[in-house]
Amino acid sequence: MHDVIVIGARCAGSATAMLLARKGYRVCAIDKATFPSDTMSTLLVFPVGMDCLERWGLADRVRASSCPSLRSWTMAFGDLALSGFPWSPHGIQETLAPRRTVLDKILVDAAASAGAEVREGFVFEGVLRDGDAVVGIRGRSQSGGACEERARVVIGADGMRSGFAAAVGAEKVVERPALTCCYYSFFSGLRATRVEMHVGVGRSGVVVPTNDGNALVSVQWSHGQFHEVRSDIEEHHRKALAELSPELGERMRAARREERFVGTADLQNFFRRSQGPGWALVGDAAYHKDPITAQGISDSFRYAELLADAVDEGLSRRRPLSEALGDYERRRTESAMPLFEWACRTAEFRAPSGKTRDLIGALQSNAEDTSRMMGLTAGTVLARDFFQADNIARILAS
Ligand SMILES: Cc1cc2nc3c(=O)[nH]c(=O)nc-3n(C[C@H](O)[C@H](O)[C@H](O)COP(=O)(O)OP(=O)(O)OC[C@H]3O[C@@H](n4cnc5c(N)ncnc54)[C@H](O)[C@@H]3O)c2cc1C
Repeated sequence: MHDVIVIGARCAGSATAMLLARKGYRVCAIDKATFPSDTMSTLLVFPVGMDCLERWGLADRVRASSCPSLRSWTMAFGDLALSGFPWSPHGIQETLAPRRTVLDKILVDAAASAGAEVREGFVFEGVLRDGDAVVGIRGRSQSGGACEERARVVIGADGMRSGFAAAVGAEKVVERPALTCCYYSFFSGLRATRVEMHVGVGRSGVVVPTNDGNALVSVQWSHGQFHEVRSDIEEHHRKALAELSPELGERMRAARREERFVGTADLQNFFRRSQGPGWALVGDAAYHKDPITAQGISDSFRYAELLADAVDEGLSRRRPLSEALGDYERRRTESAMPLFEWACRTAEFRAPSGKTRDLIGALQSNAEDTSRMMGLTAGTVLARDFFQADNIARILAS
């Protein structure tokens, strides 16, 4: 009998397992993968996620993996480019972009070091119930044997296509159509030292220096372009980057692709009901948005903390568990909804209005407000605050 079973052991699952094990609970985290294991991602850990890694004592392990410390961003809108670093309430001045083989392994090891039992190669197959309440899981271990495990709380951190959410009947309560598709690969010899974002109409590109001296280069297009892009990925990737930035296009010609292209058009936008009797969801299983704002890792971390605190309140009987989990879902939705809306809006790739171009022009000589504007993408500044009429008027006037 465990206190908590966590299904899925990447950003959301291992973080939740680690935090609960550090609070003294008997935690079992399972994953069908064995680590190190790769997964689809453009790798960026923004200030909110960096703050978590620092507080959890894991940031230095990421840095020690040959992952470059990125202290500058460029956001280019055609011929208008802004440089700076996103504002953060905690004064974080660094972005890291570790390969997921690196980051997820560090998180799994941190959960195990905290005392969680981590079972790799374990496939979740179904839930055990007592009346309405979830009381455990059925699954298959790495050796292929069927087994059952029981716990006071079961947490689904098994990603966007969560089988656990399906098993408990966690329906989508907010849903938008998919807006974009993407393809990326890893390149050597690109001379990339900063996070570069190139924003265009109908597409955008990002350059992300990562481990081993390589840079991830990704292009996102409107969802409707997927079949066309897939007909010749290399050519569409090359052409989009050259058109977004001729200078980047030149650098790409001298770079060498080190791995195959990876991409998808299955970039869903939804919130699921995220708790019920004896269970909760966290990470992409609970809420998923277009990765264009690169918030999924940071959100997984911040809501893992919120959920671990709620589970602790319930299991220690400071509060009824159902009330604590209900509060977790309410607070998560309140805080995540503006980020969700901003990601959906960004993913529409609207053509910038004349006023937007004026604003970007005015920001070029204004480091402080550029930093706040970058905070929109980093999830540290809310669109409703930044775009207040008097704030925009002040920036344009200055
Ligand atoms: C193209 C792309 C680019 C992205 N770029 C960024 C970025 O730059 N920055 C950022 O912050 N976020 C980014 N994201 C989002 C980020 O990768 C996710 O939000 C994050 O990985 C979610 O973590 P998670 O732990 O919730 O789920 P996942 O990473 O999906 O992990 C779920 C785990 O559950 C396991 N699992 C699933 N089913 C079972 C089962 N039946 N039994 C056992 N185990 C199971 C899987 O093996 C997996 O390990 C990107 C996403 C995509 C698709």
